[in-house]
Amino acid sequence: MSSPLKIAIIGAGPAGLALARLLQINNITCTIYDLEADRNARTQGGCLDMHEGAAQQCIRECGLYEQFLAVARTEGEVLKIYEPNGTLVMDEGSDIGERRPDSFKGRPEVDRKQLRTMLIDSLYPGSLQWGHKLKAVKTDPTGRTEKYDLQFENKLETGFDLVVGADGAWSKVRHLITDVRPQFSGITGVDAKLSNIDIVDPALSKRVGQGMCLTLGANTTVLSQRNGDGSVKSYGFFRGTEDWHKNCGIDWSNVPAAKEEFTRKYYDGFNDDAKNLLLKADNDDFHPRPMWMLPVGHRWAHRQGLTLLGDAAHLMTPFAGVGVNVAMEDALSLATQIKQWKQNVWDKATNPSSALLIEPVRAYEEEMFARAERYANETMMYLDLFFHERGGVAMCEQFAKAKAEEKEKEKAAAVSVEVIEPSLVAVEA
Ligand SMILES: Cc1cc2nc3c(=O)[nH]c(=O)nc-3n(C[C@H](O)[C@H](O)[C@H](O)COP(=O)(O)OP(=O)(O)OC[C@H]3O[C@@H](n4cnc5c(N)ncnc54)[C@H](O)[C@@H]3O)c2cc1C
Repeated sequence: MSSPLKIAIIGAGPAGLALARLLQINNITCTIYDLEADRNARTQGGCLDMHEGAAQQCIRECGLYEQFLAVARTEGEVLKIYEPNGTLVMDEGSDIGERRPDSFKGRPEVDRKQLRTMLIDSLYPGSLQWGHKLKAVKTDPTGRTEKYDLQFENKLETGFDLVVGADGAWSKVRHLITDVRPQFSGITGVDAKLSNIDIVDPALSKRVGQGMCLTLGANTTVLSQRNGDGSVKSYGFFRGTEDWHKNCGIDWSNVPAAKEEFTRKYYDGFNDDAKNLLLKADNDDFHPRPMWMLPVGHRWAHRQGLTLLGDAAHLMTPFAGVGVNVAMEDALSLATQIKQWKQNVWDKATNPSSALLIEPVRAYEEEMFARAERYANETMMYLDLFFHERGGVAMCEQFAKAKAEEKEKEKAAAVSVEVIEPSLVAVEA
């Protein structure tokens, strides 16, 4: 039986796009709606590190691994850490200081735009509807069916069996599932982009290197990352208050003056290189950015016909660099559940009802809640290391500790192989 299910995915971010692709290649029809006017309506921000286990597995299942390899930047996997005075305490490019544990390997960088383009181009023509800003999800007004209507800014779409909210931090689908809203993470500051850094300031470009470059002071940081388009994205973040950007007295509409005032007020003791990553940023790409998160361990009671994935389900701060990876693992997990359910239950049912969808979606949610909680805890640990009284020293100590633990585990594994091997020989003999 061909699927008469009506599935809507709200949001064409990495999570929604990956889910749509995975459903479509398994002949499960869905429509994806996004508020943006088209794929180029907004610049897509910095790059993302795509982990071997989670995100890359999702890309493989999407059948897009070759295309991913063509845009992935393995050279971007290196990290540098500076003290505010300019002392380089760690440089994976030149082996200064302790490298990160091996668990950080296999995480090439990809520009958001390239990832998004690759996924968009893989979808069935017409299945991605731009210019659809969701205002609300409504239950069937007659109360006779478990179907949902989607109220967009300019139109109504009706009769969905499953609505998946992949609409990011401020999800409109989330309202129907839980009262929980994102909370301020305690971290705020600015988001800045410096285009063509090789031309604008070659020395600064060299300082950043090919990957991530952190300048870590006491609870105050400049976090920079090279993008594939020759730009460097920097975040001037520190511990602050939710309304800091409104109350700090900086006039954000006058960007050159805002850049001067911001670095003068908050980056006393940081050397010129660190400050220049903010001061030399493009005037049309420098703005305040408070960081939000959902509570660690956020979960909800399942509601038939609705679910969330990606940031809509478990918004985290970016300090463990896992957000998109968890999002894509969600997409793979939900698509796998729906695919198996369709083959084993829906296609075989004599009288199929969308109530049958409860089981696979609930199974996805249970698996996702536990996984997201693990990543959210890791994220909190890294937040405290990025914004630490002792600056980068604390981060380097953590890496050294994790490396030592990794070595201990390797040793223990080698010993257990030695113990097992003689008995195997004995059995074979
Ligand atoms: C500064 C920063 C740096 C980060 N760095 C990293 C990193 O290095 N590594 C990493 O793994 N993660 C990182 N993240 C996190 C990562 O960006 C997110 O986890 C990831 O983008 C989540 O994908 P998503 O598809 O769930 O949501 P999003 O990417 O937010 O996509 C949501 C989509 O929904 C659409 N939408 C929103 N509202 C509506 C509506 N009402 N109607 C219709 N459409 C709507 C939006 O237009 C958008 O296309 C970072 C985040 C930030 C803020």
